[in-house]
Amino acid sequence: MKITDILKQDACHLSFEVFPPKRSAGLDSVRGATEEIAKLGPSFVSVTYGAGGGTSDFTLNIAKNIREKTGVPVLAHITCVSSSRQTVAHYIDSLKRSGIENVMALRGDLTPEMEGQDRSGWDYRYASQLVEELKASGDFCIGGACYPEVHPESRNRHEDLQHLKEKVQAGCDFLTTQMFFDNDLFYSFLYRVRDAGIDVPVIPGIMPITNANQVEKALKLSGSHMPIRFLSLVDRFGNEPAAMEQAGIIYATDQIIDLYANGIRNVHVYTMNKPAVAAGILKNLTAILAA
Ligand code: FAD
Repeated sequence: MKITDILKQDACHLSFEVFPPKRSAGLDSVRGATEEIAKLGPSFVSVTYGAGGGTSDFTLNIAKNIREKTGVPVLAHITCVSSSRQTVAHYIDSLKRSGIENVMALRGDLTPEMEGQDRSGWDYRYASQLVEELKASGDFCIGGACYPEVHPESRNRHEDLQHLKEKVQAGCDFLTTQMFFDNDLFYSFLYRVRDAGIDVPVIPGIMPITNANQVEKALKLSGSHMPIRFLSLVDRFGNEPAAMEQAGIIYATDQIIDLYANGIRNVHVYTMNKPAVAAGILKNLTAILAA
C-alpha cells in the first residue's frame, strides 16, 4: 500500500521508524525488535539507511522481513550523497525486485571530510536529484525530509523553504519532519510551508526521549529547541531509568495528542528500535486512535 493512500484516510494514525543494524552480527536481534514493533499495528514502518550507505543491504532485509511477517506497509530510506549513480541505480533495482513501493529520498549527512571538499563533480549534491531519479525510474511513492527549525546548513529559513519547494516539485509525494519538542514550532513551520505553495502532506516526526543520554545526541543531530518543561523532566528523572522512560513516553504522547487535536492525522514516531516505548505510546492512545 502506498503511504499517500494511508494519508488520505480520515482516521488518526501512528507510524514508526526503525533502524537497521550496523553489522550482520546484530541482524537477528534487530529483526526481532523491529518485527515486534511492526506487530503493534502502526500505519506503516520506515526503515532508515545507515550514514554513508553502510547498511543498505540491511535496510532492505529489515523492510522485507517486516512486510512478510506482519503485512504492515514499509518505507525504505535511501541516501545519495556518498553514492555514485551506479550504486543508486542498483539500489533502485533492488527496491523494485523486492516490491517496495514507498521510498524516503534523502541526501544524507556530510562527513567532516566531505565538508571541505569541492562538491561540484559529485553525482549527487542534494536530495532533489535523487527524488528526480526515483520519479523517472518507477511508480514509487516518494517521501522527503523537512526541518521545522531549518536545516543546519541553510543560511536562513526562506532559502531552506525554497529548496524544499524544489524538492517537492522534483516529485516528493509527502514530507516527514525532523524531530521537534515544541509543537508550536511545527505549526508555524506548516503555516510557512503552505504559504510557500507546498501542498503535499507533512508528517510530524516525534522522538520519545526515554534516557538522559539521548538528549545530547538529539541536540547534536537536530539542533532542536528543548523547552524548559522538557529539560526539567530530564533534570528531575534523568538518573532514574524507569521514571525517565515513563516521563519520556508521556511527553511524546502529549505532543501526539496535541497534534491530533489540531487536525494532524498521521504522526511518525522515532522508536529507536524499542518495542516497549512504541507499545507504551500506543497504549496511551488506544481510544484516541479508535475514535
Ligand atoms: P536536502 O534536501 O538535499 O537538503 C540539504 C541542505 O541542502 C539543506 O540545507 C537544503 O536547504 C540545501 N539545499 C537543497 N537543495 C539545494 C540547492 N539546489 N542549492 C543549495 N542548497 C540546497 N540520514 C541518513 O543517513 N539515513 C536516513 O535514513 C535518514 N533518515 C532521515 C529521515 C528524516 C525524516 C529526516 C528529517 C532526516 C533523515 N536523515 C537520514 C538525515 C538527513 O540525511 C540529513 O538531515 C541531511 O543533512 C539532509 O538530508 P536532506 O534529504 O534533507 O537533504
